[in-house]
Amino acid sequence: MKLKYFFILLFPAFLSVLVFFYYQTDNIQEETSAPVDSLVIEITPEPQYLFGIQIDSLIIIEDIVKKNQSLSDILLPYQVDPQTIFTLAKSSKDVFDVRKMNAGKKYTLICNPDSINTPRKLVYEPSIAEYIIFHLDDSLYAESVKKEITVIEKVLEGVIDHSLSVSIEDIGGSVQLTNDMVDVLAWQIDFFRLQKGDTFKVLFEEKQIEGQAIGIGDILAIHFEHSGNPFYAFAFDQGEGISYFDEKGENVRRAFLKYPLEFSRISSRYTLNRFHPVQKRYKAHLGTDFAAPTGTPIRSVGQGIVLEARYSKNNGNFVKVRHNATYTTQYLHMSKIANGIRAGQKVGAGQLIGYVGSTGLATGAHLCYRFWKNGVQVDALSVKIPPAKPVEETQLEAFEKTKQALMDRLSPKTNVIASVAKVNSVTKVN
Ligand SMILES: [Zn+2]
Repeated sequence: MKLKYFFILLFPAFLSVLVFFYYQTDNIQEETSAPVDSLVIEITPEPQYLFGIQIDSLIIIEDIVKKNQSLSDILLPYQVDPQTIFTLAKSSKDVFDVRKMNAGKKYTLICNPDSINTPRKLVYEPSIAEYIIFHLDDSLYAESVKKEITVIEKVLEGVIDHSLSVSIEDIGGSVQLTNDMVDVLAWQIDFFRLQKGDTFKVLFEEKQIEGQAIGIGDILAIHFEHSGNPFYAFAFDQGEGISYFDEKGENVRRAFLKYPLEFSRISSRYTLNRFHPVQKRYKAHLGTDFAAPTGTPIRSVGQGIVLEARYSKNNGNFVKVRHNATYTTQYLHMSKIANGIRAGQKVGAGQLIGYVGSTGLATGAHLCYRFWKNGVQVDALSVKIPPAKPVEETQLEAFEKTKQALMDRLSPKTNVIASVAKVNSVTKVN
């Protein structure tokens, strides 16, 4: 087994010597004529590297960490003494905890040409993005190397048949891409009510390591055709990070109020464990309580549709508003629900929906405000909602340029638009 590796590595070296001599003699005779009946082997004269280590003539052994296999189990068969392994593990501690070597991960031993019983390096690959080099030759230490991530731009386009996620999946897009697209256009398009035949194009960044996709970066532009109406979103940074704007420079998000009322103090924050004043036991409080006098107006924090506006034993009078596919809010313990607020009703941001009270399970007058993001109750005070400002006047010229460039990349001239979903990739232009 060990001999086999030795010869496998020796063979190319032998060939290169042969070829070297062959060309030497050939060149002397005549430079341009190629022999007809000889075997031509191309050998790159450059030194060979693996994990940044020059490996010409070294022996390479690749294997996978087996179940319950430790650093010692890997190195002991190659005559590395236990003391060396112990010292190596100790000196590597800050870079990589050797106890975290996982079964199924790849490792590579780089050994001296004369004997595999002298490993110089052990390279362990915990993920596609990173590898750890354990140095065994000079001093004993480990280093972690992050692989270079390249970002390319991709255009995906498709036609909705069932849902956006199915269409994206059909053309090789990821769940993350679907979620990010929905997040960008959530205020413009109700993704639960897409029409068969709606079309989309999305220009986005794909992160790759060694040509393999590892995730997506930013979405750069979207063109969505919903019920015959076009919707655009262009990524543009006017100094506060990327926001998305439509073709006119309007923010594609709608404004959200920070608070649904004027309050005197926050009496209880969102917490997973608090002592309930009425039920006298510890339980999660998945809302924010604002103490305010009875009758204080409560406003919907964003535009949306009223899902519920009614009384229940625990919530008292409450209103629940669905803002879009991503956000839903709820307002509890109202003394009174505002006139005209009922299920199915449209409300605007800041619209009066009710008044502070203490109906339901409440000790005093307060508003319990609840916030859902993608169906999960979150802390309304810490959820990050990007601002909804339009492109500033001073930035309009820059925005127009960016928009035009994105438009061109979203629909490359050479790209023949077909009725079926397909994928294009274009190299990133900075
Ligand atoms: Zn509450």
